[in-house]
Order: sequence, then structure tokens, then C-alpha cells
Amino acid sequence: MAEPLAIGVFAGLHPDPRAALDAVRELGIPTVQVSYPASLDNVEGISQIKDALDATGIEITTVFCGFPGESYADIPTVHDTVGLVPAATRDERLKLISTISEFAARLEVERLGAHIGFIPEDPNDELYPLIVQVVQRVCDDVAAREQVFALETGQETAATLHRFIGDVARPNLSVNFDPANMILYGNDKPIEALDVLGQWIGSVHCKDGKWPTAPNQLGHETPLGEGDVDIAAWLQKLLQIGYRGPLTIEREISGPQQRQDILQAKQLLQELVAKHSGA
Ligand code: MG
Repeated sequence: MAEPLAIGVFAGLHPDPRAALDAVRELGIPTVQVSYPASLDNVEGISQIKDALDATGIEITTVFCGFPGESYADIPTVHDTVGLVPAATRDERLKLISTISEFAARLEVERLGAHIGFIPEDPNDELYPLIVQVVQRVCDDVAAREQVFALETGQETAATLHRFIGDVARPNLSVNFDPANMILYGNDKPIEALDVLGQWIGSVHCKDGKWPTAPNQLGHETPLGEGDVDIAAWLQKLLQIGYRGPLTIEREISGPQQRQDILQAKQLLQELVAKHSGA
């Protein structure tokens, strides 16, 4: 088990898990959330991943479900393509979640995460009870492997997510709280939202961003501490409400700048934890 408030980073394992985890270890980061690496979901690939985990001592805390055909280009496209909301792809994506759950179980990872798409804000929307049932089905499926299913925040308000979690009513439903997403989608204030969702938060993305400036467009992501989240106040409150899970940095760019931003984010988080945890 990871130490309380262990630093983490969102990483990919494809194509070479050992190289990927060596790069994380070089950053001095002990935990990762990973996207599902379909190319490694076979006997050889899983063996490579296990060897890389043993060699580096890194722990996978969550496997994230992504689905073919998803696009985050703008808000209408997210509506049409992301998660379990689009009807045309729902059944195949439910099957894929089962596959990912089995993959995670082989690696003894007890937590899955996903964007499920836009949950209707209006509970009288005919889609709303359908999505409740779909997520109940997912929770029951992964519960058979003693796993938790975490909803990534941001594509709806905290109040809608709160209502939805109550309606799904499954003990293994959780929240992966991404404060930047609330801002990027223009949906809610991430510090106030901690009060609404606090009891369900089992993992977080430490990410920052700016509010959208045009209709139907997402805002833009920034290095941690440079966006509109107010990461110091957010982290202080996260600790106040009792969160002790991993602090997983998510920086959705690539290359040397990503590495530099992750290192700066790690330093910032360590400073803030030292300041606010009474350590
Ligand atoms: Mg995120």
C-alpha cells in the first residue's frame, strides 16, 4: 500500500512498461495511475508490467478506462463521444470495462477510474435513470473482483454528481476528484465542491487550468499552481476533510516540458503537504 499522501503521476505503460516506470522512478515518484494499455493485456505484457513494478518498486493505484472513439476537442464533441453516455458505443464499452477490470485484477489493482460522460443535470431527463442503471451494472461487475469504480469529476456540477452517487447507491462507487476539470468545463468551483463530494473522494488528479473564454470550448490546462484552481487552498481543504490517498499529478502534454512541469508540481505538492499536514 502507498504511503498516505504519496505523490503519484498519471503515466502510460505502452509500449515498454520498464522504460515508462524507470522514467517515473527517475522523477522520485512512487505511485502511478495508468491508462489501460490494450497492447500489453496478454500473458507476456502482464509479465513485463509485473517485472517492471517489482524492479522499480512503483505501485499502480488506479487503472483508467479510456474508450476508442473518444474526443475531447470541444464540449459538444465530449457530449457525443465520451464515456458511457453515447448510446451507440455503450455496450461495447461496458464489455471493455470488464476486460480492463480483469487486467487490473491480474495486477492486484483495486481501483478503476473513468470519465463516464455528461451525467444529465436534470434528474427528469430520460437518460438519467438509464445512466444510473449503467453505472450500477459497472459497479456490480467490478465488485466481483473486489474493485472500486471511480468517477472522474468535471463534466457535471458537484451537486449533480452528489445526487447521481446517491441514486447509484453502490458501496464501491467512488470519486476521482480533478479540480482542473471543473474549471476547464466551466462547471463548478473545485474548493467548494470538496464540501459536496468529500466523503466519496478516494483519489485525485493534481491538475490546474483556466476557465473557458468561449462558448462550447474547454478552458486550457496550465502547470500546477498557474491556473485558476488555487491549488494551495484546494490542497489545504482536501487535507482538512481528511483525504490521505495519493496525490496524482496529471499534466496532459508530452516531452521535456511535461517532465519539468511534473517535477515542479511534485515540489509544490510536497511543500504544501508539509505546510498543511502538521508534519
Ligand atoms: Mg483528470
